[in-house]
Amino acid sequence: MAAPLPHSPPNKDAHVLVVGAGTFGLSSAFHLASRGYSNVTCIDRWEVPSKSSAGWDISKIARTEYASPIYTRIAHESLDAWRESEPFASAKLFHQTGWLHMKPADMPQSLLERFELGLENTKRYGDGSQIEYLPDEEAIKSKCPLISGDLKGWTGIFNGKSQA
Ligand SMILES: Cc1cc2nc3c(=O)[nH]c(=O)nc-3n(C[C@H](O)[C@H](O)[C@H](O)COP(=O)(O)OP(=O)(O)OC[C@H]3O[C@@H](n4cnc5c(N)ncnc54)[C@H](O)[C@@H]3O)c2cc1C
Repeated sequence: MAAPLPHSPPNKDAHVLVVGAGTFGLSSAFHLASRGYSNVTCIDRWEVPSKSSAGWDISKIARTEYASPIYTRIAHESLDAWRESEPFASAKLFHQTGWLHMKPADMPQSLLERFELGLENTKRYGDGSQIEYLPDEEAIKSKCPLISGDLKGWTGIFNGKSQA
């Protein structure tokens, strides 16, 4: 059996190489630097922002409705950081638009239960203070007037604390 890896963290002046300057790579480099690591290098095959990174485009969803509590907690902390912590707050990159989740009447039970669990987790581990239930087509279209088409039987949830 292979020997277990040592658990003590490396010295703060150890050279850390992060391969891939996408979402996780840049976040790792940022948090290492924030914790005092002074010799962190992050490389990518493209210039930053990397055109291969899945998080490259400007239109992303940042939500807390996840079936896993740990995902909800991390997403909640991250949304707070975008809003309130430096250097993110001053950069004004986060626009709190809220996000809409729509459900057709025949949504499979398993997906329905997963989404309900995500809502419960948001209320328990995140912030459910701006969750609105949209009970029908009229409520959905009144909340989001750009949405058109036949939505008979659809319902929705709008969380104003998220971003889409
Ligand atoms: C189309 C799409 C839309 C998404 N929308 C959302 C969303 O709205 N909200 C959300 O929370 N999540 C979204 N996701 C998921 C989220 O973007 C990803 O989970 C996250 O970006 C993954 O981060 P990552 O660092 O693992 O990968 P990436 O951000 O993709 O970064 C990987 C980096 O590694 C670099 N790389 C790869 N190979 C090498 C190499 N050999 N040498 C050097 N560099 C290399 C790439 O160039 C790239 O920059 C979306 C994903 C996709 C594909």
